[in-house]
Formats: sequence, C-alpha cells, structure tokens
Amino acid sequence: MPQTPPKFIVLDRDGVINLDSDQFVKSAEEWVPIEGSLEAIAAMNQAGYRVVVASNQSGIGRGLFEMSALNAMHEKMYKALANLGGRVDAVFFCPHTAADACDCRKPKPGLLDQISERFGIELKGVPIVGDSLRDLEAGVAVGCTPHLVLTGKGRKTLDKGGLPPGTRVHDDLRAFARWLAGGDCAPRATSS
Ligand SMILES: [Mg+2]
Ligand SMILES: [Zn+2]
Repeated sequence: MPQTPPKFIVLDRDGVINLDSDQFVKSAEEWVPIEGSLEAIAAMNQAGYRVVVASNQSGIGRGLFEMSALNAMHEKMYKALANLGGRVDAVFFCPHTAADACDCRKPKPGLLDQISERFGIELKGVPIVGDSLRDLEAGVAVGCTPHLVLTGKGRKTLDKGGLPPGTRVHDDLRAFARWLAGGDCAPRATSS
C-alpha cells in the first residue's frame, strides 16, 4: 500500500501569506496578510493539517532588518491567526544572501530538511505552496508536491514557465485550501 503522507503543509511566506514587496518586508507594520490567507490556514488546521512556513529572508543577511523585526512580524502573524482559530507550527527561515552559499536558501532544500528533522517526518507527498519557482524546486527536491499560487510573484512565475512537472496552480491560498478540502479541481500548469 502506498504510504500516506503526513498531514503537513509547507508554505512560503512572502507573496503567499502576506503581501510581497520588492523593497522587502522589513517590519511588523509592513507585514500585511493577503486577503483570506489567514482564514485559509485556519481552514487547513480545521481539516487536520499542521502548517509550517519555509521562507528566504535575505533581508537579514543584507542588514535591512534585525532578527527582532522578523520575530515581531511573526508575532503579528501568530496573533492574527490565533484570532481566527488558526496556527502555524513553526517558521523556518534562511537569513543568508546568495553570496553566503548556504544550504538553506531556497531552491536548496535545507529548510525542508530542517522541517523533516524537527518533526520527525518524511515530506514525500506533502504539499508545498509558493509563488516563486525556487519554492517549488526546494520542495520537489525532497518529494513535496508543488503548488503555485498566483499572488505575489506567482503570475510572473507562471508566465516564465519551466515549473516542475505536475505543478498545480491556484489563484491564492484560499483557493489552495478549497482544493485541499476537495472542493475544487485546480488545473495543472504542465502537461507532463
Ligand atoms: Mg514568496
Ligand atoms: Zn541559508
């Protein structure tokens, strides 16, 4: 019998949960949820899924903001989620820049490996939701199933093409949550 994947969802943060910015999201004030995204996370929780975040935060490595600001953003997210009965179990982030050549900056799968280790699970078959190709590539490297949302950089990412085979496309995180609940069928971006 095929093994059932653990009921986990891995989410990118910027452009998936909150509005992205080319100037970086540098403070709790600048951290603004995308409409419906927190409700979507709460719905996933309701359906029995644990939700974790894997996020590149090179703004730290670039000196654009401090760890305290990142913590404040996540406090804001946790509080807003709690108000809706939702919860993110953990935020895994890469603070490095490309020049650091670390193992955790997506598309490298290091953050996903950290999640596997922390929760003692295999991520094979676990959905990863992102708005950039590198999110999906990092997930696919450890066997996650790729889901692209069209918020944030998602439209640009779709237009560029070259998505991993079997990538499913959703308008936003809300649409992904509906798909997860079995309500909608999302088109595949690639025919293979
Ligand atoms: Mg993103
Ligand atoms: Zn890193």
